[in-house]
Amino acid sequence: MTAKLIDGRALARRVRSEYRMRVERLVARHGRVPGLAVILVGDDPASHVYVSHKTRACAEVGLQSHVHRFGTEVSQAEVLACIAALNSDLSIDGILIQLPLPKHFELPLVLGSIARDKDVDGFHLYNVGALVAGDAVFPPCTPYGVQKLLEAEGIPVAGQNVTVVGASNIVGKPMALMMIRQQATVALCHARTRDLAEFTTLADILIVAAGFPNLIRSPMVRPGAVVIDVGINRLPSGQLVGDVDFEGVRQVASHITPVPGGVGPMTVTMLVCNTVGSAERRWGNELGVEKTYGADESRANSEGEKT
Ligand code: NAD
Repeated sequence: MTAKLIDGRALARRVRSEYRMRVERLVARHGRVPGLAVILVGDDPASHVYVSHKTRACAEVGLQSHVHRFGTEVSQAEVLACIAALNSDLSIDGILIQLPLPKHFELPLVLGSIARDKDVDGFHLYNVGALVAGDAVFPPCTPYGVQKLLEAEGIPVAGQNVTVVGASNIVGKPMALMMIRQQATVALCHARTRDLAEFTTLADILIVAAGFPNLIRSPMVRPGAVVIDVGINRLPSGQLVGDVDFEGVRQVASHITPVPGGVGPMTVTMLVCNTVGSAERRWGNELGVEKTYGADESRANSEGEKT
């Protein structure tokens, strides 16, 4: 078997053109353009690249974006003051702190200072709690992008075994919660998991976000499984690879995401979606505002209410 490639770039293009129309309708109706503010602290080259992808995606759908840049030595108080000003700025619909922050920042305090109705990355504790309860307004962008990829490919989740490798707050844990919400049976693995293959071979859908090239090789994958590679690693040669041995695993999987060109473009796209959704809600518009995450499932299925 050679796996079908899941093309994240193509889906990202389709979603962005749909959201571009939603932005145009907002502008026509309200005479102003939704805005995203990004706070970028320090000189981490990868962070600068990610921020430029995000601002480019905003421009593509017609959103305004404003990057607030600070040097590594900036005080936490100064950044908190910037966030407070953005919280009350009516032209801003979404606020994002590019992570990681330098070590002298208290991350929970900084993330918690973002107005929860502008928390488009979904990292405020309110939104984290809402995700646990199954009703998040702002699902975190990377797992939300994975969910959209599965949906677009018509891959059913309910009743499937899903193994998530990596248990970070920004990818693995919210990913597992979203899959539980969709009534999958979920295993969440991490660096202390004793026998990783025991769990990966159980998976109908294997989602990998550990940050280790070639962590997942073909004997660890159930034949016919769907494999979603979230990892982004730069090899000494400069090549960008995921966490999955792509050439080996594509011989056994039914579907696989490439790196680059799989999950990455969707992460950035979901940020745009969350920002447009925020503007639509905040401006009280009646254009089919994206529902809170999981609202449909909770009405349709009482099992969902219990999870
Ligand atoms: P992280 O370092 O915060 O967390 C890594 C997780 O993987 C931890 O839970 C750790 O216990 C687990 N892990 C590490 N080694 C493992 C092993 N040998 N076996 C099992 N689990 C192991 O990383 P993160 O921020 O969650 O990112 C993970 C990867 O995803 C990185 O490569 C990152 O660059 C990538 N990423 C990609 C996107 C995207 O849009 N494609 C977005 C965010 C992160």
